[in-house]
Amino acid sequence: MSQLEDLLADNKKFVENKGYVPFEAGGKPVKKMTVVTCMDCRLIELLPRALHLKNGDAIMIKSAGAMVEGPYSSVMKSILVSVYELGSEAVYIIGHTDCGMHGLHGSQMGADMQKRGVSDHNFEKVRDAGIQPDQWLGGFDDVADQVKDSVDIVKNHPLFPDDTPVYGLVIDPLTGELRPVA
Ligand SMILES: [Zn+2]
Repeated sequence: MSQLEDLLADNKKFVENKGYVPFEAGGKPVKKMTVVTCMDCRLIELLPRALHLKNGDAIMIKSAGAMVEGPYSSVMKSILVSVYELGSEAVYIIGHTDCGMHGLHGSQMGADMQKRGVSDHNFEKVRDAGIQPDQWLGGFDDVADQVKDSVDIVKNHPLFPDDTPVYGLVIDPLTGELRPVA
């Protein structure tokens, strides 16, 4: 069976067995909060448990490295939607130690892409769109600095409301311990 077939078979059982019942919730976050965190697979269950969040409690936005990459990025747009349309009253940006984006240089991923057959011509297309691939694909050197930069982007956004706090934290992906950094 392919991965997709496996997934659909498991899903069918889940629905038939009413596995969804413990997760029933409304579409507005009960705890009126937005969490921006990393897509790291160790945080799938650990982070909600460590923050005492259950289904329906918070808006969860994920990106590589919990990075808010700029005022007009998709993550920033999602934050604005969560505040204005879904009732969030605080934003928590939570990076983590041992992150895959720590020390990741765009040139390294560019080399991996070339090995997989991405041509120079295609890199040119990216540059023609006004994006420097090495810069765009890169991570960060210090997770606390990354979190602080992301907090600043949100706080200073021209469309972000002054009455909504933005907090920056770093989580340990093994123990779930949180450390405030901004
Ligand atoms: Zn990460």
